[in-house]
Amino acid sequence: MTPPNQAPVAAGPLIDARAQLAGAVEHLGVSDGVHRMLSISRREMAVSVPLRRDDGSTAVYEGFRVQHNFSRGPAKGGLRFSTAVDLDEVRALAMWMTWKCALVDVPYGGAKGGVSIEPRDHSQAELERVTRRYTSEILPIIGPDVDIPAPDIGTDERTMAWIMDTYSAAVGHTVPGVVTGKPISLGGSLGRASATSRGVAHVALMAMTSRGIDPVGATAAVQGFGKVGRDAARFLSEAGVRVVAVSDVDGAIWAGDGLGITHLGDHADSAGTVAGFDGAESIDPASVLTLDVDVAVPAAVEGVITAANADRIQARILVEGANGPTTNEADAILADKDILVVPDILANAGGVIVSYFEWVQSNQAYQWREREVQERLEERMERAWHAVVDYAGAHRMSYREAATALAVQRVIEAHDLRGLYP
Ligand code: GLU
Repeated sequence: MTPPNQAPVAAGPLIDARAQLAGAVEHLGVSDGVHRMLSISRREMAVSVPLRRDDGSTAVYEGFRVQHNFSRGPAKGGLRFSTAVDLDEVRALAMWMTWKCALVDVPYGGAKGGVSIEPRDHSQAELERVTRRYTSEILPIIGPDVDIPAPDIGTDERTMAWIMDTYSAAVGHTVPGVVTGKPISLGGSLGRASATSRGVAHVALMAMTSRGIDPVGATAAVQGFGKVGRDAARFLSEAGVRVVAVSDVDGAIWAGDGLGITHLGDHADSAGTVAGFDGAESIDPASVLTLDVDVAVPAAVEGVITAANADRIQARILVEGANGPTTNEADAILADKDILVVPDILANAGGVIVSYFEWVQSNQAYQWREREVQERLEERMERAWHAVVDYAGAHRMSYREAATALAVQRVIEAHDLRGLYP
């Protein structure tokens, strides 16, 4: 089915996201009207973001905010600064946010934003101006009860502070609940910065146990050493897992006895990359996900496991720290190889779970203890994990199919209860 008002794309995350939805719709027996409604974003905004550069010249970037669904609550999702950003990518990521929020039962719909910019080419001052201008362009459609941005690739807590300040200046008072992933001193939540990684590691440990693999001494490879991969590697190694390989955009390293993740973090802080870490061998970054390990964790960008490399994956478990790292074609190949795929909307949901906790704390102007945040995060991850495992078992489907079906069912239930207006 091709949604009428959004042109078909040739390949890529939106095609895959819509195919996953179609699979869930077929399984659930949903009407064509509801299927169409869920295929098409509820609201999309494309803006131009002019930037006065430090040298006085003007650059212009394309920006987007896509709100896929509001049935279960305000839209929620990250903001990405990357040259790979385009409208179809943002649409797919927004749809996945809807399913993710429904799956872990936080009271949100889904959204995503992006600016097609390479942040590494810009000074802090330029990034601040880009962020503030983008925020002011999308201001009419965001707000603590409307749509709540958060960090994603290329953005961080500083970006969130600028968004909060720009929004607050426009409405005339401070509104901490308009973003999550803020600095702690501005109402950010303890435990938010490492929440996605904590969830990834927690679910990876549950997956290992379910496959009869003892985490102590098991091996793992992590692609990406940023907001998700870095602490995921740390949490896994703290649990006794030997993290033997790690990569980032500038290189990849391997050590058979396991990498010292804390020291690796120090090295990455000073060198700006994991490459060149003492005592580790340099390897081809493309090989990190195809190493012979128990667990592979893609924690970088989408579309890295494709029909071209899926048959070379040797890991027994794949835990998707990134959004959409596995194409649908690759998914089928991994299923044939009996590789357990813990899908993104489950594996990396720790971030939005603690975003929800942060939003609750911001709206109540009250801070929870870190231990409380961690316990509640793990409890929600466990609940979602067991729901997916049970559903997959009962319906003989993959974890991705089960997670998507469960989520779509919850969104449809909310839609049905609210009814169609007018
Ligand atoms: N960008 C993160 C994600 O993809 C977090 C979103 C949020 O916290 O709103 O899940």
